[in-house]
Amino acid sequence: MKPPPPPPPAPEGIAFASGQPPEHVFPTLTPAQLARLTGHGRPRTVAQGEVLADAERQPHVFVLVRGRLMTQMTGEGGRVIRIVVPGEFTGEMSALSGRRSLTRITALEEGEVIEIDREHLHSLVESDVELSQIFMRAFILRRVELVAQGLGDVVLVGSAHCAGTLRVREFLTRNAHPYTYIDLDRDAGVQELLDRFRVGVDDIPILICRGTTVLRDPSNHEIAECLGLNAPLDTGRVRDVLIVGAGPAGLAAAVYGASEGLDVVVLETEAPGGQAGSSSRIENYLGFPNGISGQSLAGRAYTQAQKFGAQMIVASSARRLRCDGHSYLVETDDGSIIAARTIVIATGAAYRKLAVADMARFEGVGVYYGATPMEAQLCRGQDAIVVGGGNSAGQAAVFLAQGCSRVHMFVRGDGLAETMSRYLIRRIETTGAIALRTRTEIVGVEGDLHLRRVMFRDRSRSETESLECGHVFVMTGADPATGWLDGCVALDAAGFVKTGPDLAAEDLAASSWPVERAPYLLETSRPGIFAVGDVRGSSMKRVASAVGEGSTAIAFVHRVLSA
Ligand SMILES: Cc1cc2nc3c(=O)[nH]c(=O)nc-3n(C[C@H](O)[C@H](O)[C@H](O)COP(=O)(O)OP(=O)(O)OC[C@H]3O[C@@H](n4cnc5c(N)ncnc54)[C@H](O)[C@@H]3O)c2cc1C
Repeated sequence: MKPPPPPPPAPEGIAFASGQPPEHVFPTLTPAQLARLTGHGRPRTVAQGEVLADAERQPHVFVLVRGRLMTQMTGEGGRVIRIVVPGEFTGEMSALSGRRSLTRITALEEGEVIEIDREHLHSLVESDVELSQIFMRAFILRRVELVAQGLGDVVLVGSAHCAGTLRVREFLTRNAHPYTYIDLDRDAGVQELLDRFRVGVDDIPILICRGTTVLRDPSNHEIAECLGLNAPLDTGRVRDVLIVGAGPAGLAAAVYGASEGLDVVVLETEAPGGQAGSSSRIENYLGFPNGISGQSLAGRAYTQAQKFGAQMIVASSARRLRCDGHSYLVETDDGSIIAARTIVIATGAAYRKLAVADMARFEGVGVYYGATPMEAQLCRGQDAIVVGGGNSAGQAAVFLAQGCSRVHMFVRGDGLAETMSRYLIRRIETTGAIALRTRTEIVGVEGDLHLRRVMFRDRSRSETESLECGHVFVMTGADPATGWLDGCVALDAAGFVKTGPDLAAEDLAASSWPVERAPYLLETSRPGIFAVGDVRGSSMKRVASAVGEGSTAIAFVHRVLSA
């Protein structure tokens, strides 16, 4: 028999860009750890040239016992990430989430691997503390590395003068999906790329997905579909709990529910994080003395929920709740129906908009509802206006003042004392770049493709002033996202969901409360439907209370399921 041809010379893998210790990103397992893994996976041989993973398959993890594997990006060019040697393992976050693989893995020579599928990976990270830490850390750091290097299967071509570009960048970033960004305003060579895919400038932003599919000004749902962000949803199964909304409250419910063995699915209109995801720095959340950005907090919680096996569906909204059958049914905006024995309503609140003509036209191109590093980058070195007198407005002003030439804070009231925490008031007073204007409201906006000028007035006077300013941050609170509940549960006068002791006898009578017991704390006027976080009537409207309520609700879910 002819001996197999010698393996091709393997190209070197990428250099690390995010400053992570290489031994944490690509750890080598000890013989004892490898022996423990055998019980969680399928030992098998691989042939030289065999493709073990690509974009079309559910990603499995391969622990290499003998031979060499090449990991490369699936997109155009197929950049080599790592030559895996014995003792190392493949995989990153998509192995846990069930999202489509970002990498292609090829055996460079005949060898032996332990193949671990998603189900066994979940049981491994839940049962083996030491291996769980090694795998989770490596998966997270590998994803961080891909994001840091813009190494993904997505190229986004956009412009700072296009609202859709900011939306898509935020969607990809909040879903921790790595992408390469080409700025039309700065990159002269981009025309060649546009010609190649036969797209006009009017179609921006353009998203080139996996090197082949070209999406013109895609919706978040289209992006999620193309990138395989959601694992297939088994709509024939009745879930233990369906959580609607992946802000802090929904994520906490997902982590507790899944870690306690419940079959959990989470539905989220955009991306994990909710309002907290738009906060530049949360300083009052327990355990983070230096503060943490809302995005980092959400990213960690999202990973944690996936580690325990919660199924997350992003870019998909609950459109209607049906509560007249044996189990509860939630209809999504693409027409799917998800059945569950209990529901956790965690839809929080949607940002309030200013009643000013033309304001909507500049959303994303001068008018923003969150102040993350992405928006801060857009107004660096320029003036910005922050509207609002609450803590979120204060945080935004202090954060933006680090990069903007001047931040004008417009507050309708006489001062900040009644609406803002003292520590933030002090920071505003001591930050020279912030100019506070009380009793002030915006009355008009002007611009072309981008916001250029803002008209405002002192509420005690009739004359109007104006400011050349291209960036307005509206931080004026939020209204409850309850439109989809379709009359199933009792709401208070302001539209928030009533729960537990807040429910009056007539609320229970109106929904024909069918059981002997009184509603549990956090339970709505329907048994087994709970409301947590900002969407709930008497909630505290804070990250910590939302997290507390999300986790508490799961204790009551258990009681309902076991009744
Ligand atoms: C800029 C900013 C800064 C803040 N800073 C702080 C702070 O420093 N400290 C603090 O304690 N609090 C802070 N807050 C308040 C805090 O973020 C909220 O109290 C908290 O996020 C509420 O969490 P939640 O999960 O209840 O709701 P939300 O965070 O509002 O999340 C609700 C989620 O539900 C989703 N959703 C809505 N409708 C649907 C639907 N029909 N189908 C599917 N999904 C849906 C939304 O997309 C969203 O992701 C801040 C808020 C903002 C806006």
